[in-house]
Amino acid sequence: MDQVSCLCCGRLFTPRNKNQNYCSSKKCQKTRKADWQRHKIKTDPDYKRDQLISQNKWLSANPDYWKNYRSNNPEKAERNRALQRLRNRKRVKYSQHQSKSDIAKMDVRTQSSMAVNSNLTGQFWMMPVIAKMDATKVFLRVVSKGY
Ligand SMILES: [Zn+2]
Repeated sequence: MDQVSCLCCGRLFTPRNKNQNYCSSKKCQKTRKADWQRHKIKTDPDYKRDQLISQNKWLSANPDYWKNYRSNNPEKAERNRALQRLRNRKRVKYSQHQSKSDIAKMDVRTQSSMAVNSNLTGQFWMMPVIAKMDATKVFLRVVSKGY
């Protein structure tokens, strides 16, 4: 069989059958399974419900999980809080029927101009208003005009 490139890492590999799109590396197999599950949850309401039930069961057996996760991953917790704030704001926005051109605006514009105006230097999250894209962390520093 001809070599194909892995959907995850892009490396060429020889598939065992024509449906194999991921190479056999552990990382790519993990990605394949996660992708499959995401798709299944979107398309199969029974599967989604079962997953939710088992997640809740697991969570009630591990009540400190999210608390520990947040204290072990402060960066991710900060990012999630920022993204949630954005989602909350977006929900309000859409319920007010604002124009579609707002979708393309990057949230960071407000934050960066704020940084310049108040002479702030620091780290900011650049967040695309359209979903699917990852937030990017940037470091903004005020530079004098002559620079
Ligand atoms: Zn791969």
